[in-house]
Amino acid sequence: DAGIVIIGGGQAGGWAAKTLRDSGYNGKLSVISDEPHDFYERPPLSKAVLLDQDGQLGLTRLFTEEAVAALDIDWHRPLRAEAILPADKTVVLNNGETLPYRQLLIATGGRPRRPEGLWQSHPKVLTLRSWNDAVQLRTQLAQAKTLAIVGGGWIGLEIAASARKMGVAVTVFERQSALCLRSIGAEVSQALLELHQNQGVEVICGCGEITLNDDNGRPQLKSELTESQTFDLVVVGIGVILNLELAEQAGLTVRNGGIVVDDQGRTSDPSIFAVGDVALHSQLGVCLQSWAYAQNQAVTTARSMLDAGQPGYQEDAWLWSDQYSENIQILGIPASGSHCITREDDHSKVYFYLNADNQLVQMVAFNDARTIKLGKRWLAAQRVLDPAQLSDPSFSLMALK
Ligand code: FAD
Repeated sequence: DAGIVIIGGGQAGGWAAKTLRDSGYNGKLSVISDEPHDFYERPPLSKAVLLDQDGQLGLTRLFTEEAVAALDIDWHRPLRAEAILPADKTVVLNNGETLPYRQLLIATGGRPRRPEGLWQSHPKVLTLRSWNDAVQLRTQLAQAKTLAIVGGGWIGLEIAASARKMGVAVTVFERQSALCLRSIGAEVSQALLELHQNQGVEVICGCGEITLNDDNGRPQLKSELTESQTFDLVVVGIGVILNLELAEQAGLTVRNGGIVVDDQGRTSDPSIFAVGDVALHSQLGVCLQSWAYAQNQAVTTARSMLDAGQPGYQEDAWLWSDQYSENIQILGIPASGSHCITREDDHSKVYFYLNADNQLVQMVAFNDARTIKLGKRWLAAQRVLDPAQLSDPSFSLMALK
């Protein structure tokens, strides 16, 4: 039996492999990974790993070494899958080898987007996606006094926070008029702006086109709002290009920038499944690119690969970000026409976005994981909420359980 082949040894690939074995699959399990490492977590790469100057933390593993060995994986690494041939049910690797499969799982994630030209080759212009990227950035940050971050999205802001903790002077350039505008409302954007400004970050929103030049080995940036400025280091955090090429070339249905899957993770080819960043959320129709989705949708899909009668994936969008001492959690996705209600006490602030019927569509909590938990229930149940109760810190939200 050709067994199951997984392309991509990241978070979703790792959880799928573990779940297949935990669910009793004892056939052949192959993983093709272009990274040399065992499965690992990416969220710490922009946070704890950058601050871990003496490298104590080590690889932020998903599972212990023993647990990975127990999965009895036939590893093909570091190697790349170059093509999927659905008619032959094989995968072609970049060493010329072909691997047959009975079922195939695509878990290829994404790679950082970079502008063309010097942005691609300047040694002091970095991006962050992998463990190796993080180690390189950590080393370079330790020697830098000034850092420019191009792109005020979540990863850029987390790197800004880590760099400030290390005493580096940070400038963030954001082309749009506000931070993280694609994933949150204007009120939360403003709170993020103030958070970073209070920590001494210079944030330049609406900066337009940025040009990069070399100034004696150091990167020099000029934007439509600022004169040329030379930095020790530049990090580009302008989003991700999802690794969809294999799926596209194999003729799988790709829409809205992601692989179309049903709630069991099955693509338009019944033998091929997709998980994690590359897989469109089957209800929301967008690629969430979050840790929780990568894990939970992969777990559901792996179970479904073994038994199509398993319950499908159903979960609202949820992600978090840690910046300075703030734990920021985002539940749901933004919807136009919603209105914002805030709730604040000494330690936390919550932004509720409600639709015209006062049902929750999105909420963002600064240091309030408990309210997020309640919000998950309200969102799933489409519960009608009372704005006056939400905004009153003396009203216990637990009463709305
Ligand atoms: P990945 O983890 O990217 O794994 C894909 C793997 O496939 C990679 O190893 C890739 O190299 C490999 N691959 C690709 N193509 C091929 C090929 N052709 N052949 C072989 N191998 C291939 N989410 C949150 O919710 N909260 C956070 O705080 C947060 N922080 C983050 C911080 C950073 C720095 C990053 C990069 C991401 C963060 N995320 C966070 C997002 C989260 O980590 C991702 O959503 C998650 O890793 C996606 O898992 P994945 O398995 O789909 O992709």
